[in-house]
Amino acid sequence: MLVLGVLAMQGAVSEHVVSLKEALAKLKAAGEVRPVKKPADLEKVHGIVIPGGESTVIGRVAERTGLLSSLKERIREGLPVLGTCAGTVLLAREVLDARVGKVEQPLIGLMDMKVVRNYYGRQRESFEVDINIPALGERPFRGVFIRAPVIESVGPSVKVLATYDGFPVLARQGDMIASTFHPELTDDTRIHELFVELALKRD
Ligand code: GLN
Repeated sequence: MLVLGVLAMQGAVSEHVVSLKEALAKLKAAGEVRPVKKPADLEKVHGIVIPGGESTVIGRVAERTGLLSSLKERIREGLPVLGTCAGTVLLAREVLDARVGKVEQPLIGLMDMKVVRNYYGRQRESFEVDINIPALGERPFRGVFIRAPVIESVGPSVKVLATYDGFPVLARQGDMIASTFHPELTDDTRIHELFVELALKRD
């Protein structure tokens, strides 16, 4: 049976659980959604969501529990992953902070992209905007941005699925998907469905 995991160190975990259950129902697929807290939890999953939150905290806790290296290994082997906001920071090969520049923080680092954390600064810390995502159909996707990072540049293996303000906001490299906004905070499950479809291929 399909098992989907949500990395549960810190951050928007329960919202992703709800969105994944809805996505499963829409796709008429049987599956279970489980929080992933330790390396053993990772063994049975066919896909993992890395939620928003604080990427430094998520990375450090995951490193301490040994989960970060297991995650790296599984994702490198092809485990489908959906990273949102802080999750996107963790997936990036290179991370800068908008204020302090170079930062040392534990990363998964497998997506060939450069990300700037907290890019939008104080005044526009949080905002919502309709995003065009041609791969998901004509209906725009409501992008909820909360202290969002910016994907400043991507390598040739990364496909940009949507942009806003001149920057990629949804990108894909193989079975890794990264969004700088929070699809789990809307009723729109199309991005979760895309991820579930990738995981179904691994079941
Ligand atoms: N600013 C956070 C970080 O860099 C991300 C914010 C979020 O996930 N909503 O980790």
